[in-house]
Amino acid sequence: MLENKVCLVTGATRGIGRAIAAKLASMGGVVIGTGTTDEGAQQITDYLNAAGSQGEGMRLLVNDAAAIVDLHKSIEAKYGTVSILVNNAGISRNNLLMRVKDAEWDEVIDTNLNSVYRLCKICVRGMLRQRDGRIINISSVVGTVGNIGQAHYAATKSAIAGFSKSLAMEVATRSVTVNVVAPGFIETDMTGDLSDSVQENLLSSIPMGRMGTPEEVAGAVAFLASPMSSYITGSTIFVDGGMIRH
Ligand code: NAP
Repeated sequence: MLENKVCLVTGATRGIGRAIAAKLASMGGVVIGTGTTDEGAQQITDYLNAAGSQGEGMRLLVNDAAAIVDLHKSIEAKYGTVSILVNNAGISRNNLLMRVKDAEWDEVIDTNLNSVYRLCKICVRGMLRQRDGRIINISSVVGTVGNIGQAHYAATKSAIAGFSKSLAMEVATRSVTVNVVAPGFIETDMTGDLSDSVQENLLSSIPMGRMGTPEEVAGAVAFLASPMSSYITGSTIFVDGGMIRH
């Protein structure tokens, strides 16, 4: 379904990003997944190759503007225009606002939000030129409902929604779509260190009564990356077991 489409997935070493990269590869995409270390990049290459897929892992710190330019250059030279961009890499630095340090605030904004601006800006040019492209930005239910200790994280995730809607309108006539996937609570390293009492509280707020899996998020991304979603842009799909009800 995605044969010969060059897909860039940030934060593909583990968790949701890994499931997305594997899913897009299984659909025939030429997937470039990124990790923050050379070892992580190698692991990505290994799992992509083991699945018989083209593409590879590359090293990228999404909060390094110059590194984004270099990565994009390497991908264009080796694989061609990026047709599908999934901005997945993200961090949480949970802390009550009164205790958040300026450096922590900046790190979360830089990693979760400035990276989305930079990667969209550099990739959208080629998509506009070829009049075809998909951008999928990973947000969070926390951007809609908030969460104690996550004011900085929530600010980035909520900003991603407004950013994506605006960009979607700017590029719509060229068949480039921009959408958001907002996961609820998903079983990954990011949620792995929650205490039992927090987990219990959390589960009681999820109508389906369980956390989601990375593969369930990847399913929504795959739909938005595929030709099946060609008339959907500026939208958010919540993958949250029913937490958000409009
Ligand atoms: P995770 O398991 O913690 O994995 C994070 C990924 O991002 C890793 O591949 C990591 O690479 C990469 N990364 C971290 N800092 C980076 C940086 N500065 N530059 C480039 N890559 C970086 O996270 P996850 O739970 O899968 O979350 C993925 C996305 O979904 C995030 O945007 C997160 O906010 C969002 N989300 C998650 C949940 C959830 O419940 N898990 C819910 C809603 C939204 P390394 O392995 O090299 O460190």
